[in-house]
Amino acid sequence: MTERSPIGRFRFMDEQRVNLDGFAVENPSLGLIAFNSPTDPQPSLVIVDGHVIEMDSRAAEDFDILDSFISTHGIDLAVSKEAMALDSITFARMIVDPNIPRTEVVRLAGGMTPAKLAQAIAQLRPAELVIAMTKCRARRTPSNQAHVTNRSDDPLLLAADAATAAAFGFREIETTVPVLGDAPSNAVAVSIGAAVGSPGILIQCSVEEAIELDLGMRGLVSYAETVSLYGTEQIFIDGDDTPWSKAFLTSAYASRGIKMRVTSGGGAEALMGSAEGCSMFYLEARCVALARAIGSQGVQNGGIDSASVAGSVPGGVRSLMAENLMVMLRNLEACTGNDALMSESDVRRTSRTHPIFIGGSDFICSGFGSIQRYDNMFGPSQWNSEDIDDFLAMQRDWGVDGGLRTASEPEVERLRRRAVEAVRDVYGLLGLAEFTDAWLDEAVDAAGSKDVPAADFMVPLTASRLIRDTNVTMLDVIGALDECGYEVEAERLLAMLHARVEGDYLQTAAIFTEEMSVLSLVTDPNDYSGPGTGYVPTRARQLEIDTIRQQRSVDDLRSEQDGFVTDRLAVLGAAGPASDPRDVVIGVSPATAKAIWRTLSGLTVVDALEELLAGLEEEGCLGRIVRINDTIDLGLIGLKAARLAGSGIGIGLQAKGTALIHRRDLTPLANLELYSVAPSLTRESYRAMGINAGRHAKGATPEPGRNPYSDEAIEARYHTTVVSLVAMEREICDPAAYPESMSLTEAHT
Ligand code: CA
Repeated sequence: MTERSPIGRFRFMDEQRVNLDGFAVENPSLGLIAFNSPTDPQPSLVIVDGHVIEMDSRAAEDFDILDSFISTHGIDLAVSKEAMALDSITFARMIVDPNIPRTEVVRLAGGMTPAKLAQAIAQLRPAELVIAMTKCRARRTPSNQAHVTNRSDDPLLLAADAATAAAFGFREIETTVPVLGDAPSNAVAVSIGAAVGSPGILIQCSVEEAIELDLGMRGLVSYAETVSLYGTEQIFIDGDDTPWSKAFLTSAYASRGIKMRVTSGGGAEALMGSAEGCSMFYLEARCVALARAIGSQGVQNGGIDSASVAGSVPGGVRSLMAENLMVMLRNLEACTGNDALMSESDVRRTSRTHPIFIGGSDFICSGFGSIQRYDNMFGPSQWNSEDIDDFLAMQRDWGVDGGLRTASEPEVERLRRRAVEAVRDVYGLLGLAEFTDAWLDEAVDAAGSKDVPAADFMVPLTASRLIRDTNVTMLDVIGALDECGYEVEAERLLAMLHARVEGDYLQTAAIFTEEMSVLSLVTDPNDYSGPGTGYVPTRARQLEIDTIRQQRSVDDLRSEQDGFVTDRLAVLGAAGPASDPRDVVIGVSPATAKAIWRTLSGLTVVDALEELLAGLEEEGCLGRIVRINDTIDLGLIGLKAARLAGSGIGIGLQAKGTALIHRRDLTPLANLELYSVAPSLTRESYRAMGINAGRHAKGATPEPGRNPYSDEAIEARYHTTVVSLVAMEREICDPAAYPESMSLTEAHT
């Protein structure tokens, strides 16, 4: 028996990108369940003599290492009695109630067990999660984090791309390596590039923990976030780790002035085959409680590497956002996922990010790929350089601050040039590497590493070995920058080392402004309490959000039109009716050859007229051009043309390119044929329209012309232009003006 093939409608649906994604049937035993697994424990907390003897339905003697650590260090026992006594729905309502301050909600959450907090947050509907995030994130001002990596660990490209990321507004930059040995060079190159772009950008080089800590101690990086936590004991054991070892590492970073957050995320336990039958959200609740307990100031979660696992189950995307909110309620900095690409579908990935984007978070993306997907050595991000213009347009659409801003092309070129020259000079002075001019030029221009064939793949490896062997620290880099004439960048990097000694940016959710002041839970606490409160962009910042490089004004379009002025269309004099039955009038709109010369399709008005006239001629008709000066309505223009025509047939042509065929005995709106999609019209369409008008003139019934097939957002592309062109027509239209005959002369040769 041959297998039955699905019908065309389903074959077509199967081809859509969303069907590259995997979708799982909910399966609690494997941990493939977002919320409320039947085997999730019920919340409970029993305290005797200041000691927890039962937590979340488990007696102390049965505690695993997570329970032990959380019950000892992760719960504020002083408020536990009050907090655990609240029923979950009451607390869920408090989370979104604008009249209850964030501080109060956070205080109560501090006394709750993982299961208790999970149960309450699971009650929030998606729109409530958005409000909760707006209210509960630690820092008032949202921000964003970039990935800057490339496949060849090219130091010049890394520096150029770090400077670019800074120009687009990212305040944290995370790099990593495809080749572990390249790490020190990557850290140095990204630090230099970021300093060229802006003061106060925090830098991370995500590698093996001991190497990363070493880079931090040399001052080459300023934050770390890849200490991973998991929700079940077995995975700690598999990784030869414990909560105590993670706590020690966390403290090691912080003690050296390195901003520190941990990483977790729902779905990881299921992916590693150790979910113990629990829901992703409950296990993440344990991770977040653990993050609090080990003294981390923040958490990067919301799926991260396992976002697509969470995305495969019902409610999974909602649970990713709920994880982020959980972090906020534990009074930690939230770096809200949107890191690993969770879907092949642009619709699904936008859907996953969008609520967080409008709610606002400490870092909207815990790794926006500011480089191209293929250069993202963490794997493609949820958002990449392919999407920067989309993201900027979304910020503008909603008027929200997603942490990014438009960067001008000349400025980015200048920064990229300075960044690669700074790396060349510093690497040269420190004896790390030499670079050819061709390599520099390619790196400045490159959209990605494929555009830098001059790169030598051994350079980062050799430079890294020398950085290690000669014990290069950030002070050496700063000295070299200063000596090579990059005083500004040297100052910026020195200011960062200074800030590490002061330690203010070790406070929860700290970033630096471009003036090097710290914004954190302490200095910039979120004070949302309903409409009209909380974070509002400053006027200057709002202008940044609103001003994207693609915007055009009427004046811009007017001067664009001025580039197409021609003397081939000239006024002959007043136009009157004719009696020749071969006479067909082409009525053109008032602005034709006065202000508008080019149609939306890119053809000039003259091109369109040439084809209309030629089509009429093919049918043995005589075309006559008449400018109708007293209306901008295309139906009326066509009808007035028809009434002047000896044949009774007229063509109406707006200068923007829309055209129709009319007959003198019809009403204005009841035309014979309409070619409405001006942007898609071609010379052939106008020729065909001329032919059809000629056939109508001869009394035939031609097959009507149809708009060409299109699946494009033509209106989005042209409506702003249309508004301007219509305004120009309106300006010129004079209700008292008579029609004028026009001549179209041959092109000058
Ligand atoms: Ca990250």
